[in-house]
Amino acid sequence: SNGLMQGKRGLIMGLANDKSIAWGIAKALADQGAQLAFSYQGDALKKRVEPLASKVGSSLLAECDVADDASIQALFETLKTEWGTLDFIVHAIGFSDKNELRGRYVDTSRDNFTMTMDISVYSFTAVAKHAAAMMPDGGSMLTLTYYGAEQVMPHYNVMGVAKAALEASVKYLAEDLGKDRIRVNAISAGPIKTLAASGIGDFRYIMKWNELNSPLRRNVTQEEVGKAALYLLSDLGSGTTGENLHVDAGYHVVGMKAVDAPDI
Ligand code: NAD
Repeated sequence: SNGLMQGKRGLIMGLANDKSIAWGIAKALADQGAQLAFSYQGDALKKRVEPLASKVGSSLLAECDVADDASIQALFETLKTEWGTLDFIVHAIGFSDKNELRGRYVDTSRDNFTMTMDISVYSFTAVAKHAAAMMPDGGSMLTLTYYGAEQVMPHYNVMGVAKAALEASVKYLAEDLGKDRIRVNAISAGPIKTLAASGIGDFRYIMKWNELNSPLRRNVTQEEVGKAALYLLSDLGSGTTGENLHVDAGYHVVGMKAVDAPDI
């Protein structure tokens, strides 16, 4: 066949279950002929990831805890042995103590600040370095971010600060790796009900607010994030790097929220 991803091989990081944004992306890429490898965090997730991977024709799975350099190293050793080279990577990983994804940002602890930045920001840079070494013919890298990086969103707190740093790191990585024909981009997804999202205070309310106030008057799906990822990871996106593509039903452009105007 002649899918957009035919002959391309890539790593998906951050698949936890069939609600994961990583799953929407994996399906969109596999539909277009991509060959996929998956990393999972710890043995508990292995039995969740295995059947999903097999649905998209993948049997290349490897454990990776991104908080651990040796674990990242081992993942890329496996990929080097199995494949030799890579065409793309997807980083769909974030983490913070959910006790600090409610209440005030000002109360963030030093330990959770450091841990959140390490897992949600530094890991993309660490992974990018390893992946770039396996992309002799260029490639494409993608991470996931949220509007809470740009503007204050309720309860997002330290994760918003981490996403701001992640978005800045996308720009620095795009410049560093552009000379090697490697593109680096982010998708800023609107709220989607996933495992990670359920740790955020009042998440149902945030989703409802987005639905009522975004230009499209609805929320986005993991499939829609998948289609945008397909653009950035395939040749369709060949001219785009350092970008933060909003897939949020347009929420980020709204200044005044769309209430039915009262008579004034
Ligand atoms: P999810 O819970 O399905 O995925 C989060 C993943 O991060 C899980 O697979 C988990 O195993 C992984 N992870 C956490 N700590 C890790 C570690 N130390 N090592 C390896 N993996 C680790 O939730 P999701 O919503 O699909 O999240 C994917 C990405 O999308 C995250 O970066 C999240 O911030 C971002 N995002 C989500 C939304 C949303 O509303 N769901 C919106 C915008 C951005």
